[in-house]
Amino acid sequence: MKPPTHREGGEFAGRGILVPFETVNEAVSAMEAFLSPSAASVITHELARRCGAASCRRTMVGAGTREEVLGRLCELKEEENWGRPSFHEVDFERGSGRVSIVNSFEAVARGDGPPRCHFFRGFLAGFLSELFGKPITVLEERCAAEGGERCEFRFADSLVLYAEEARQLVKNIAREAASKCSSGNL
Ligand SMILES: [Zn+2]
Repeated sequence: MKPPTHREGGEFAGRGILVPFETVNEAVSAMEAFLSPSAASVITHELARRCGAASCRRTMVGAGTREEVLGRLCELKEEENWGRPSFHEVDFERGSGRVSIVNSFEAVARGDGPPRCHFFRGFLAGFLSELFGKPITVLEERCAAEGGERCEFRFADSLVLYAEEARQLVKNIAREAASKCSSGNL
């Protein structure tokens, strides 16, 4: 993917540092080598989750509605060059919906490979949990690092997603048992 051009000025100017994509890649690669890719992704997600919750508390100050807070988040992250995020199909009662991001900084920085956006996924989880006042889980269903134009995420109440996962697990076990029965292995 071609890295986006940094836009100068605006709300972010003078309030942070610029970290080149190369440095992001080197830092994450070092953490993966020191721990393991899966351990590094869990730590990155957890660290980002706390950052996202704090960011939501700051963003909510003076905002009227939850929709307005999400609008502010998208503007701010685009300004900070994280990529171009947008929210879709948001159910403000249930706390569920979809997020896509074009030019995710993690996908751009890390290059082709498995889903890369552990920081953004964790950040969203923390931000949305704070916004909706309950634990929200975010899943990255498609990552631009695997091909395609954008990364796509789904979010919902963590309990709803756990229940969905449990139902799927039971279905898989039943299917496996039925298959063993029919083949005479049980
Ligand atoms: Zn991604």
